[in-house]
Amino acid sequence: MVQSSRRCGEREYPLARPWDDPVRRRLVAGATGAGAGPHLVALQRIADQNAGNRASPGPGYEASVQYVVAVLRAAGYDVSTPTYPLPKRRRRDGATCGRNVVAQTRTGDPGRVVVVGAHLDSVRKGPGINDNGSGVAALLEIATRLGGSPPIRNAVRFAFWGSEEDDLEGSTHYVKTLSRGDRDDILLYLNLDMIASSNAGYFVLGGEGKTRAEFGPRGSAQVACVLVEQLAATGVVARTTPFDRESDYAAFIDAGIPSGGVWSGDRKNKSKKQARRWGGQAGEPFDPRYHTRRDRLDELHRTALDRFTRAVAGAVAHFAVSIDTRPG
Ligand code: ZN
Repeated sequence: MVQSSRRCGEREYPLARPWDDPVRRRLVAGATGAGAGPHLVALQRIADQNAGNRASPGPGYEASVQYVVAVLRAAGYDVSTPTYPLPKRRRRDGATCGRNVVAQTRTGDPGRVVVVGAHLDSVRKGPGINDNGSGVAALLEIATRLGGSPPIRNAVRFAFWGSEEDDLEGSTHYVKTLSRGDRDDILLYLNLDMIASSNAGYFVLGGEGKTRAEFGPRGSAQVACVLVEQLAATGVVARTTPFDRESDYAAFIDAGIPSGGVWSGDRKNKSKKQARRWGGQAGEPFDPRYHTRRDRLDELHRTALDRFTRAVAGAVAHFAVSIDTRPG
């Protein structure tokens, strides 16, 4: 049976194309946590060679930028590294600017863009392999599988943000300085920030809560719904949760762009109920190594990484081929 619409919460909304779209099939089948693995190895090596961190600005961050640019160029993308000014207190080693990495497919309508982002910087205290090498590696895997010129309806833009750990400066400046038209062209934003916490939870941010800051702009519930569905397809029941301005979706929410995010949890403890649902240790933090020197490659939850990578790949494919206008 060809499915032509789906229920999501209280709403039913149409699918422009059936679930077996070839792009979606290729992405869902192709993108895996194992495919993200080599990128995590590279980011750990970069941190090890640069005083143990990839903080922005700094040599570890610059090496991370170069790595990401090289992977995306090799996959056939148009890549740019737009800069943003650093406030005086954030300047280091003579750097007055930071930079993001932005890559977009050459195909798909550039007037209808699906943006998917992850912060590329770490804290100064550690290598940031779960936070947020995991999100970066998943995006690189998805971008590589998709390729720079896939047969898609909407363009897909991959963003790797600088200075997330310093007040979200990279994404904030990027969104603020888009023209009105460029902002209107964005259909939605998906955020990945920590997806391989060692005592993993499965959280989807957006479409929950009472205020717009928590819930996100109109359409965010549908974005969250697709993420929940895609996670369900990997065998896990996700928990939806309100936005809290703690990551790069904040600027997109402020700009009125429907948004959703995925997250495996940080310093909060896993509850008994969550441990029953997801496995792992109740009464222990989702990521006991959050923002420390020990946020390393050997401490990642490989199953969580795999599930989130597949789920985001499925969501990107879905939004790239199945909608014409903003959700909602
Ligand atoms: Zn983070």
